[in-house]
Amino acid sequence: MEKVSVAIARQTESIGRKVILQGWVRTRRDSKGGFSFIELNDGSCFGNIQIIADGGLPNYESEIKRISTGTSVEVRGEVRESPAKGQATEVQAERVTVIGWADPETYPLQKKQHSFEYLRTIAHLRPRANTFGAVARVRNCVSRSIHNFFQEEGFIYLHSPIITASDCEGAGQMFRVTTLDPARVPMRGKEVDYSQDFFGRPTFLTVSGQLEAEVYACALGKVYTFGPTFRAENSNTSRHLAEFWMIEPEMAFFDLEDNMNLAEAFFKRLCRDVLEQCPEDMQFFVNRIDKTAISTLEGIVDSEFVRLSYTEAIGLLQKSGEKFEFPVEWGCDLQAEHERYLTEKKFQKPVILFDYPRTLKPFYMRVNDDKKTVRAMDVLVPRVGEIIGGSQREERLDVLEERMKEQGLDLESYWWYRDLRRFGTVPHSGFGLGLERAVQFITGMANIRDVIPFPRTPGNAEF
Ligand code: ATP
Ligand code: MN
Repeated sequence: MEKVSVAIARQTESIGRKVILQGWVRTRRDSKGGFSFIELNDGSCFGNIQIIADGGLPNYESEIKRISTGTSVEVRGEVRESPAKGQATEVQAERVTVIGWADPETYPLQKKQHSFEYLRTIAHLRPRANTFGAVARVRNCVSRSIHNFFQEEGFIYLHSPIITASDCEGAGQMFRVTTLDPARVPMRGKEVDYSQDFFGRPTFLTVSGQLEAEVYACALGKVYTFGPTFRAENSNTSRHLAEFWMIEPEMAFFDLEDNMNLAEAFFKRLCRDVLEQCPEDMQFFVNRIDKTAISTLEGIVDSEFVRLSYTEAIGLLQKSGEKFEFPVEWGCDLQAEHERYLTEKKFQKPVILFDYPRTLKPFYMRVNDDKKTVRAMDVLVPRVGEIIGGSQREERLDVLEERMKEQGLDLESYWWYRDLRRFGTVPHSGFGLGLERAVQFITGMANIRDVIPFPRTPGNAEF
């Protein structure tokens, strides 16, 4: 007897094998013939394995007939060909041992369909529900695919710091990291005396690893970060989390065009790998969440993304004849309704917008010759909107410093970032992909809170 996963036991190659299975019961059904069917799941794949437990088993009356949804069990038996539809194999049990009971009166995750809102209140049990198992496996597949893609392309995986003293976006919205006692904050005059804080200066949770990635790209060529990222923005939307995972490649000697090519190839690769490696989970999303989940991904793999300058996009929006809530004029920030028009109505595929007005974008983006726009690019996809944001970075010290002053930044505290432009500066580019937005797009899940195991949003951090 050998311990195997349900995924292995479900394969026809396992027929005839004696196996030990361990998992959680999804359902138990008793047949008139005096035996029971147990649907067992262990998370290794979407499908369950059917266990046949005969009435002659010694604990049949005392235990097996009391097994209910959520009970953990160990099953020893032989894998057989299944006569039933929709499954290749089943297991004839020789022994069924109950490991842990789940009282059907109080177990919160019954067989019936629960709302996603309710399931968020039981985040410790929801991974046992079909949807969350499928999301977790797809998320894992995407994570592996991300590493595979960059490793195969010769990138170095960089671990950028989570605690930082620099604010990449030049805006607030950061979580402060401090060991000062909020009840007795040391003051120097009217200001907080951060010299007495742990790091001797104000520090925060990172909003982006980009600046650090630039440091390593300007030495090692091609690097990427993949780690937790924090934004204290108080936006209660279906696309924002306070804690999310971001992938940030940064490449020396890449211009904006190279950057867009990489982003497109990268995103297509993620979609292709999920189609290949998670067919069962994707079929579930088609059946239950979004009928177009698979065809959307197939479309992405085969399509060429539209590339449009911001200025062209404004023109299209103005000519569209649509009634937008937010009026469109050159210089305005694009709203979700504008992005949706472009990706869902006009082109029905991903759109890469580039060359945004300089006033809309951070100091580090390279200024174009027109002085009005910067070498920014956003990848927009149907339904989710912005999934990737990136740019070619400003490599000219004088222009960079002018931009920093323009945005009211303290040049001194960026001395090391400016040094990169002082010593051996090179054109370079990079972008950031939000992992959860990618998983949301791929699975068709409506709310970003349901594609991360333990979502952090304003007012929510219990689990
Ligand atoms: P948005 O305009 O949608 O708020 P952003 O422009 O602030 O996003 P960037 O700073 O460009 O986002 O970050 C790069 C990527 O990180 C985004 O394209 C998105 O995929 C993801 N991202 C940004 N903020 C969040 C968030 N609060 N929760 C989840 N993902 C996020
Ligand atoms: Mn952005």
